[in-house]
Amino acid sequence: MDELDRPVLDNHLHLDPVNGRNTAAVEDFAELGGTHLLVLNKPSWLLGVEVEEPADFREVFDLTVAAVEDATDVLDGRAWPVLGVHPALISQLLDRGFDVDEARELMQAGLDIAAEYVADGPALALKSGRPHYDVDEEVWTASNDVMKHAFALGAEVGSAVQLHTESGEDFTEVAEWAEDRGLPRERVVKHYSGGQVEGPIPSVLSDKDELEIAAERDAPFLMETDYIDDPDRPGAVLGPKTVPKRVRWLLQAGHEEAVERAHVDTPARVYGIDTEATLE
Ligand SMILES: [Zn+2]
Repeated sequence: MDELDRPVLDNHLHLDPVNGRNTAAVEDFAELGGTHLLVLNKPSWLLGVEVEEPADFREVFDLTVAAVEDATDVLDGRAWPVLGVHPALISQLLDRGFDVDEARELMQAGLDIAAEYVADGPALALKSGRPHYDVDEEVWTASNDVMKHAFALGAEVGSAVQLHTESGEDFTEVAEWAEDRGLPRERVVKHYSGGQVEGPIPSVLSDKDELEIAAERDAPFLMETDYIDDPDRPGAVLGPKTVPKRVRWLLQAGHEEAVERAHVDTPARVYGIDTEATLE
């Protein structure tokens, strides 16, 4: 394999040190030329953690922080944790007998703890959002309140916020909610995005068609796989080799500037990270 000799960042992937391939998946990524990773904590219930009180989130976050340390050992660049509360947790909590207010409070308290991990060092950014499936209005409002809380925390600790949301292209209102709380819209990232989004920065799921759209726009974007590292669902999402493969494909198609934009310029703008200086 020819060397890429440049930063290659997967902006959203999961590692499961309990049941998954964990560091072996990172080795696959590195072998193809991947250098940097943002590792999202898996939803708590997929790690076998039944959240009852805020402190329960620490177990989820600590597993991810440990997985990131191991990942950094095998990368020429490094990995960073992105921590937060999956928006679908609200439905799990309601099923388990929480009322909507209790669920909102628990999820916001989980984000408070994630923000501690950002303020104290190990985590780079926060993760929040709202359900991607239909919910009733009370649940929708509570979910938006949780997301707004994440924006306020991001502004407070100086970090970006990755969002899991419904699909679509116009998220201008969401970006305005962030700015109302002091978080610039370019520090809000829509994960699992198509090539074009209004409002937040798109983190484009690395399908060729969508990458082509993002590459040809003159706007910041990131690339991701949303690899879930779940042995029960092999091939359910893109694998860990996909981002470096698609970087090669973009370069062959003459998109040198877009690759630089997605792997150097946008990470610096959104997260304040320097993917060149952190590359061996
Ligand atoms: Zn994900």
